[in-house]
Amino acid sequence: MVGSTIEIDLAALRYNFSKVRELVGQSTAVLGVVKSDAYGHGMLPVARELESLGVEYLGVSTCREAAALRQGGITSPILLLLGIEADEITPVIKYSLTPAIFRSDVAKAISAAALAADARIPVHFKIDTGMGRLGVPHAEADNFLELIKSLEGIRLEGIFSHFASADEHDKSFSNKQLERFRRILDRAQNLGFNPRYAHIANSAGVIDLPDSYLQLVRPGLMLYGAPPSPELHSPVTLRPVMTLKTRVLQLKKVPAGSPIGYGCTHTTSRASLIATLPVGYDDGYDRLLSNKGEVLIRNRRAPVVGRISMCLTTVDVTDIPGVEQDDEVVLLGRQGDKEITADEIAAKISTINYEIFCNLGGNRKKVFLNSSTPEQN
Ligand SMILES: *Cc1c(COP(=O)(O)O)cnc(C)c1O
Repeated sequence: MVGSTIEIDLAALRYNFSKVRELVGQSTAVLGVVKSDAYGHGMLPVARELESLGVEYLGVSTCREAAALRQGGITSPILLLLGIEADEITPVIKYSLTPAIFRSDVAKAISAAALAADARIPVHFKIDTGMGRLGVPHAEADNFLELIKSLEGIRLEGIFSHFASADEHDKSFSNKQLERFRRILDRAQNLGFNPRYAHIANSAGVIDLPDSYLQLVRPGLMLYGAPPSPELHSPVTLRPVMTLKTRVLQLKKVPAGSPIGYGCTHTTSRASLIATLPVGYDDGYDRLLSNKGEVLIRNRRAPVVGRISMCLTTVDVTDIPGVEQDDEVVLLGRQGDKEITADEIAAKISTINYEIFCNLGGNRKKVFLNSSTPEQN
């Protein structure tokens, strides 16, 4: 079939999960972050695999994602990292979800709805300890805790925060965040709360900040086999889960001086062999990789020449012996002993590996390899 394929190696996911367990030990629970289609890796199959490995919690951004997990048979507790809107309380109760809370109006609405439904809704209180993004500012945490205390129908199951720069070499800001967080945990205890889970560690925390493990950790990226940054103190060996492959759609010889692609941005300097690949920016292969990207063919690297189009990309294979039409081409992942990582692609277009995964995998059709769980749907 003409086109590209995203392969997801669930054995690699299992391996990466085992690395998380190895690092944090059995007494710390793991919340697997599967938001944004599991960073492009396929939310449901990834969640099924994690559930079969005994993950204690799953984390998604929205109620909609959580509903899809429940409809797919996932029974693990699910944290809604972005909280909910007041009109989403019905699915929260129906699907037994755990919203993050950081707005008093929503907290009150959840409480009222819980009372009306004779339910008790578990919530995790999100605190901003310095990220400046989502959460109650740490200086106002006391007031919010008092509010939670006054609300019936909700149960404070967790308190959490998020690191702004745990992936950087210098951990002083992370340590400051951790210190602020601990102070709030003490305050909560003094107010009579005893939440089951305090949590702050993302992948970088899991890898580099053992002090931040507390009762639960929230790795995302490392489950997908990539390091959160090149600056980590104690890098772990991980296995990339995603591969993007295609095949040579057409191979042709062109003379020196031939322009290649839209805008004629590349002109051959010699007689060349050009392979045209059925993959483009519609597949998430970023157009900024025009004249910059590399792909693997016959266990060798071939440069992208000319502009990447919507559904086609051209690579120069003049220096690779024996290339044939229909040869396998790897744009992300391993071929033989060669590898193109998401970090390599990200560096070329000034972004991060996270975005590469989301763009390549997000909501595209995937082939799942080495599943240990029975296929459903
Ligand atoms: C996405 C996210 C994570 C996971 O971060 P990684 O760097 O991928 O490990 C953890 N916590 C929160 C709140 C998140 O939004």
